[in-house]
Amino acid sequence: MATPSLRLPENVPGPFYVTSECIDCDMCREFAPTVFRRDADLSSSVVFHQPETEAERAQALEGMQGCPVEAIGLAED
Ligand code: SF4
Repeated sequence: MATPSLRLPENVPGPFYVTSECIDCDMCREFAPTVFRRDADLSSSVVFHQPETEAERAQALEGMQGCPVEAIGLAED
């Protein structure tokens, strides 16, 4: 589970986020290229677009589940 207090401010607002625990492995960007992208300054993924469709959400969830260091969080009420 990602650590909410480590959420990167570069993520767009919304439920999915990447934390500073990211090791820039590229996995989530492969699964969900419309949600995650690389921030070159941070050498990290960030969420640049929150999922809007079920397909995008499924891809983002796959990326989250595949993250080797659990650096992707999902905050939902
Ligand atoms: S899968 Fe995890 S470690 Fe890999 S780039 Fe995405 S957030 Fe970073």
